[in-house]
Amino acid sequence: DESQILQFQITLYGDDERLVMARDITRLHRLEQMRRDFVANVSHELRTPLTVLAGYLETYTDMADQLPIRLGRGLSAMQAQTERMQNLVDDLLLLSRLEIDRGGRHDGPLDMATLLEAVRRDADALSGGRHVISVEDEAPKTLIGNEKEVRSALSNLAFNAVRYSGDGCHIVLRWRAQGDGACLEVQDDGEGIDPVHLPRLTERFYRVDKGRSTATGGTGLGLAIVKHVLLRHDARLEIDSRPGRGATFRCRFPAERLRDTIENAQRA
Ligand code: ADP
Repeated sequence: DESQILQFQITLYGDDERLVMARDITRLHRLEQMRRDFVANVSHELRTPLTVLAGYLETYTDMADQLPIRLGRGLSAMQAQTERMQNLVDDLLLLSRLEIDRGGRHDGPLDMATLLEAVRRDADALSGGRHVISVEDEAPKTLIGNEKEVRSALSNLAFNAVRYSGDGCHIVLRWRAQGDGACLEVQDDGEGIDPVHLPRLTERFYRVDKGRSTATGGTGLGLAIVKHVLLRHDARLEIDSRPGRGATFRCRFPAERLRDTIENAQRA
């Protein structure tokens, strides 16, 4: 083993003894870096072949009415699975970029109202009108962050709310003040989560119900992406849920990440 374990024994005054241990973790860090680079490279390399496959499959499924029924069915199954792989590869790539890169370079004031409305529309499209999705923009301040990343975190939370709550359920996307900071939250009144799962929920591929989650079309990386986006924005994720009583996912941003909106600054 290249890493070393260094042990010091320090004798403090009299018979009070303390043991200090230091471990050289350079090698561990190097291995972790290699894992991240590998995942990023593989995901990147898989993108092109998948795009080509998806392109051909789309052309052929468009001609399904001219094909034998079994062939047509096979083609649409292939198309659905290719799309699933594309989503997975995109999420893996996004997650490794979030891990590798320190971020902060493209941060700027975000137009929260527009962002919330855009995600509401996307979630509505996923829901197909089966849920009641609304936006509440109560925070007088705006967030300084990376638009793409914050949008992807909010989308993941909103899409989960759609996936894990039944027809007719209510979903609220909310931006509100909290203490001297602010909170971006997604609340649903769907199936909820048993508290035993909460500590592990943001781990990659951790799922409460594996079979069901795969059927809902998620990649298993959604909450891991949310966690990493928030880390880069000095924010914290809080999950509040009870089985059968819905779930609220709260992203808490500190005051240093907030600015007055232009309208507020002009009014003041
Ligand atoms: P997935 O692609 O499986 O949705 P995520 O990382 O986004 O992956 O979520 C992890 C798991 O957390 C999900 O499989 C689901 O069991 C649970 N979950 C996430 N959001 C909700 C929610 N709003 N209500 C109930 N369960 C949820």
